[in-house]
Amino acid sequence: MSAQVHALKAATPRAAQQPDAPRPAVAIHGQAAHAPRSAAAQTHADPAARPTQLVPPVAQHFAPTPFKVFTARDLDRIPQITRLTPEQRFEMKVVASVLPFRVNQYVIDELIDWADVPHDPIFQLTFPQRGMLAPEHYERIARLIEGDADKDELEQAIAEVRHALNPHPADQMQMNMPLDADGNRIDGMQHKYRETVLFFPSQGQTCHAYCTFCFRWAQFVGDKDLRIASSEARVLHDYLLAHTEVTDLLVTGGDPMVMKTRHLREYLEPLLRPEFDHIQTIRIGSKALTFWPHRFLGAEDADDLMRLLQQLVEAGKHVALMAHYNHWKELETEAAHAAIRRIRATGVVIRAQGPLIAHINDDPAAWARLWKTGVRLGLVPYYMFVERDTGARHYFEVPLARAWEIYQQAIQQVSGLARTARGPSMSASPGKVEIQGVTEIAGEKVFVLRFIQGRNPDWVQRPFFAKFDPQATWLDQLVPAFGEEKWFWQDEYEAIREEKLAV
Ligand code: SF4
Repeated sequence: MSAQVHALKAATPRAAQQPDAPRPAVAIHGQAAHAPRSAAAQTHADPAARPTQLVPPVAQHFAPTPFKVFTARDLDRIPQITRLTPEQRFEMKVVASVLPFRVNQYVIDELIDWADVPHDPIFQLTFPQRGMLAPEHYERIARLIEGDADKDELEQAIAEVRHALNPHPADQMQMNMPLDADGNRIDGMQHKYRETVLFFPSQGQTCHAYCTFCFRWAQFVGDKDLRIASSEARVLHDYLLAHTEVTDLLVTGGDPMVMKTRHLREYLEPLLRPEFDHIQTIRIGSKALTFWPHRFLGAEDADDLMRLLQQLVEAGKHVALMAHYNHWKELETEAAHAAIRRIRATGVVIRAQGPLIAHINDDPAAWARLWKTGVRLGLVPYYMFVERDTGARHYFEVPLARAWEIYQQAIQQVSGLARTARGPSMSASPGKVEIQGVTEIAGEKVFVLRFIQGRNPDWVQRPFFAKFDPQATWLDQLVPAFGEEKWFWQDEYEAIREEKLAV
């Protein structure tokens, strides 16, 4: 860490502290960081036994680092922000009153090039921009704030704008949430594809910083109606016991890595019991390697986290950290490198994925460098996603035709080991739809599409064709090619949808 960083830290004013996020600690190795084991895990001594081999120690200079986080209230307290004009700062506050904002000292000091603001990709990734709100929404909220409007009136206006931003795209609330034996929706879980269950632990429904384009932004705005979360390990385990067709568990958020290791352990350690042998893969979705790599280094329970991961791997699970990356700059710091090395030493595979976003990474060279750097560090490039149809999409979205060009031009620049990246892929309601190419068939220009995942597994890998549209940004803006009236999967999908929505 540079002397400049230390100087900035010393000058840093009071900032909010995330209750369940890493706190400064005084010692890190082999001490009180051992969390108590859950009751469930204690009943099963053998597979849950601690691994004997210790994961590599953290280098001395990654000793505990204070986690300092800034929210909308603290914007003016960020020293670098004072370089912006009062108008720019006001615009940020207006946008941050509607969409979540959160950034931390590591991102500010080590990832953003302040000489290149506002174009710096990590600044665009984390700091609100005026264009993120539609002009009419921006004007409405700005007038109320300027006019010192009544709190209730402002909150009502903010809620209305949020609801206009499609907070739960792809029918997540209605179509993906499973039912219990009595037909009631189970909170904090999604079961869209046969073999994979998503679990949203309540302690993991925040992130070390927030992405401006976040497709889960509704999780962070404090509106209970928009939130998916469960604090019940038992509910997760009961559901998995009842669904032996499930092979993959994806723990997601927010970012599960904001949780204390002891919470993560309560959810994951019981999966080592024989009755969970059908759960072969545990995935953890996280952006902590970008936003707070010290989570894996000097955090007070980082060692215990490494032990938990190693324990799962040694018991025979495939454990994958689904690391969210948008730009090669996220992979340039010493802390990021050290955290990757440490996680890989546990046997966990790190897969890199992220969306293609205007103003941040809509450039083939940026993707090629991200994938190349990732492979060098031992990551497996996994997905290039299309920005979802939610939140500030009009600011961040990239037309599908351009997305495919970017993917194609990027993948051509990398070796075979980086060509594991799939995409561009839309996580749409019927399934994950990949744009395989643009071509001409029988005189008609078309998109070639396929399902990577589908609500019906039988749809997967069947090529289908959409009329080429240079402006389309999402599946629902495409129409079938060759004069067809509907997609091959449409009737079946509509029947599934009707059935789910009827519950
Ligand atoms: S890391 Fe994921 S969940 Fe967290 S803010 Fe970014 S996109 Fe949203």
